[in-house]
Amino acid sequence: MPLHDEALNVEGGCNCGAVHYKVAIPALAQRLPRPLAPADAPVPLPFIALDHCNDCRRTTGSLLPALLCAPIDMCFVSLVAASSATLAPKASAYKSSHERWRWFCSRCGINIASTAVMPAGFPSMLDITLGSVRREYVDGEALVPERHLWWDYGVDWIQRLATEGYVTLPIHPDYRLTDTVTLRRPG
Ligand SMILES: [Zn+2]
Repeated sequence: MPLHDEALNVEGGCNCGAVHYKVAIPALAQRLPRPLAPADAPVPLPFIALDHCNDCRRTTGSLLPALLCAPIDMCFVSLVAASSATLAPKASAYKSSHERWRWFCSRCGINIASTAVMPAGFPSMLDITLGSVRREYVDGEALVPERHLWWDYGVDWIQRLATEGYVTLPIHPDYRLTDTVTLRRPG
């Protein structure tokens, strides 16, 4: 589901609170189209994708990371002042693959985003892990992934999980296996 047409702010950060970011997404009319998308079906930036590539799976530690891929001009990142914590808050990066850097909090280790040398014609981008977005922004339907990226590099059963779910598995409301949830399906 594409982002809504209205302007939208999205906030998030790392787990310890040292790194905070805000993405100021303008109304649809002000969003640039992503290069390398069909001319008759433009994809405005930012967009949200499930990413099946091996690098993003490993660096996020998530089976299937979802990314908010935003032009860096829309993104504002801040650090809280150093406190009594043993490690001063800092956003650090390392190069995970050819021309891509992974940004993480040096205090709590959360992978927040990645940047890359982009192909000609692309704006500079910040690919933000959707899991680092604050819960109130993830609730509702504003930030639902709209497409799968790097499908050809994915793991078969993760792709099955993402497209069909595992509807025959028992579902438990919490960590105990004593209760199960019965799914109600529309229709
Ligand atoms: Zn942190």
